[in-house]
Amino acid sequence: MLTCKEQVARSSDYLDGQLSFRQRLIQRHHLLFCPNCRRFLRQMRLMQATLRKMPEPPLPPVTDIDALAERLAAERKSNA
Ligand SMILES: [Zn+2]
Repeated sequence: MLTCKEQVARSSDYLDGQLSFRQRLIQRHHLLFCPNCRRFLRQMRLMQATLRKMPEPPLPPVTDIDALAERLAAERKSNA
């Protein structure tokens, strides 16, 4: 039987569908008998859903070095 600690350690893989069929069965078995881990998993799933709904972070501003590198690359291309 899985301990709660092991269950928690694997729960993110479980939610991501990264576990093997056997591992998933073991997780499910534990969840069946452990309300604590059920609650933990539900909160974790909720948090993941919330994170997915958040907008993408804005792109970092182009620094001068980036602009310079781009110009150099463009110049090299036009000279070739
Ligand atoms: Zn548990």
